[in-house]
Amino acid sequence: MFEQLGLIGCGLMGGSFALACKRAGLVKRVVGYSKSPSTTERARQLGVIDVEAPSALLAVAGADLVLVAVPVAATEATLKAIKHLVTPRLLVMDVGSTKLDVVQAASRALREQIGSFVPAHPIAGREVSGVEHADANLYQGARVILTPFERTHSEQLENAERVWSAIGCRVSRMTPQEHDAGFAAVSHLPHLLAFAMLGSINAQPEAERLLALAGPGFRDFTRIAASDPVMWRDVLRANREQVLAQSQHFVQALELLQNAMRADDNGQMLQDLITLASTTRARWRLGDASLPTDH
Ligand code: NAP
Repeated sequence: MFEQLGLIGCGLMGGSFALACKRAGLVKRVVGYSKSPSTTERARQLGVIDVEAPSALLAVAGADLVLVAVPVAATEATLKAIKHLVTPRLLVMDVGSTKLDVVQAASRALREQIGSFVPAHPIAGREVSGVEHADANLYQGARVILTPFERTHSEQLENAERVWSAIGCRVSRMTPQEHDAGFAAVSHLPHLLAFAMLGSINAQPEAERLLALAGPGFRDFTRIAASDPVMWRDVLRANREQVLAQSQHFVQALELLQNAMRADDNGQMLQDLITLASTTRARWRLGDASLPTDH
């Protein structure tokens, strides 16, 4: 289907995309670029890319498909660097965890070529980063959310849907605003809380002893606290307003539980709150929820 994938950011998400595209027979050749030449070289050694490019622009030269898989704060500079090679026939996508900032950055960087850019967020990933962890199966069965806007070319939007479907994803569409509000609640706030949980332990003199006591509940709750600091710094800053709004909901819920613990009611209120949380969690299944304009 595509002659050449230009991959900018040969890490976990970009590398996994390249491997999945190759396995699906979607691309003939992958030309990759990463900030550190050692990463690009490693990606070639691992067979994730076929050719190392010394710049983002040269990774895009000759490509008919481009994936930008860098930390979201690097999106604008990356798109600016490739703008001269972006034509209406080139499909350019990203994988950033936030979308409104990415769309704004892309509009500033690509200007009249913005129609070629289809913002994407695959709901897949891991708390590990780097090309060593790239996995052709990462996207298999995952949802990917496309957040087209007024100027997105419909032909490129359809191409983007075909690409993600071909590597095993279920494709949905929503606006960048809907995306950022929703993922602030179910992804960005949980990461913030996991970081805060570890922060609250670390702030205590007995941190080491407390961590030594911890069991599976702590392991499950804090798994995502091991995520990449640069990626999450960027995500929390980019979606600051929505995440802070969700934090307020969380603080209210925490206060409700604290008040229920203090209440002189034989624990009824506390049990009711836990029952509601417990039944909601028991009903929830990964990927069950129907999304707007599900495809
Ligand atoms: P990663 O494994 O750390 O890969 C990021 C890659 O981008 C690295 O190879 C890095 O190169 C490169 N890079 C950084 N700045 C660059 C720049 N200015 N120009 C070119 N390359 C640059 O991170 P990742 O997990 O793949 O995350 C990439 C994107 O995916 C982020 O936007 C994130 O929001 C999104 N995402 C991640 C997940 C997840 O679970 N990890 C899930 C959904 C979406 P060096 O090695 O040289 O530093």
